[in-house]
Amino acid sequence: MPSEAVTTRERSDDGVEVRESPIQGLGVFALRAFAPGDLIRVVNVLREITDDAPLRPEDGERREHCAYPDGKVVLYGLPDRHLNHSCDPNAWERYTNGRAEIVARRPIAPGDEIRVDYLINNSGGESWPCNCAAPRCRGRTGVSYFTLPLDQQREYLPLLATWFIARHPEQVAALRRG
Ligand SMILES: [Zn+2]
Repeated sequence: MPSEAVTTRERSDDGVEVRESPIQGLGVFALRAFAPGDLIRVVNVLREITDDAPLRPEDGERREHCAYPDGKVVLYGLPDRHLNHSCDPNAWERYTNGRAEIVARRPIAPGDEIRVDYLINNSGGESWPCNCAAPRCRGRTGVSYFTLPLDQQREYLPLLATWFIARHPEQVAALRRG
């Protein structure tokens, strides 16, 4: 996610580290190899943001560090708040048993930046400029899964979360019918 510049490296004990990204601010990088389908890590969710427990900007909490599963707003901690977007990502977020996991989608080598497509499970987000360098880079992250080119909506169908499908049953059923 878009992030402030800092000069320190944050190492994680589970095979990733946070450091400067050539794309945008900080990024999350692999310290070891991952094969497609490998669980890279369980997302570090700090807490749900509510009216009673709003973001605390004075503690460095930022809207860009939040995710929006199933209508909730949750604050990601390190290192996951620094996951950058790619229009052709090597990883994705899987929602299992109420938790989010980062899973490899392609072979990932040590040193590769781990990236996800922000539009998966997103039906009304904020659009950020993108220069991810993928041949199919859209130029911006875009605002909704349903505005992606149809072939990419179909490509991402198996990656959609149960809660996202439940919120958009007719659109997803139409895609599945092809
Ligand atoms: Zn892009």
